[in-house]
Amino acid sequence: MTESEFQSAVIEYAKMRGWMVMHTRPAQVRPGRWATPLSGNPGFPDLVLVRPVHGDIVFAELKKEGGRLSIGQKAWLTALKAAGAEVYIWYPDDMEAIVRRLGRTPS
Ligand SMILES: [Mg+2]
Repeated sequence: MTESEFQSAVIEYAKMRGWMVMHTRPAQVRPGRWATPLSGNPGFPDLVLVRPVHGDIVFAELKKEGGRLSIGQKAWLTALKAAGAEVYIWYPDDMEAIVRRLGRTPS
């Protein structure tokens, strides 16, 4: 499973379970060169999922199997966690746990 197939699967499932989805993905700026046109600190997580009905917000960095976090990604996840956010690094092998989390209705 490629990273983009994995992302699509997570996004599709999240939408199905009533989450609003914010997803940033890189664009090709010239042949062979990809960049995500954002300003601010680099490395913001791939996905922000919000379920307003439940007051639920999740930040997730998605990685292909064996993929590693950049320094910026680490900094963002650490900062968000310190600020009380629910953060994840999700790999394709985590699909079962992802489905469990996104399908869960908080009490
Ligand atoms: Mg990623």
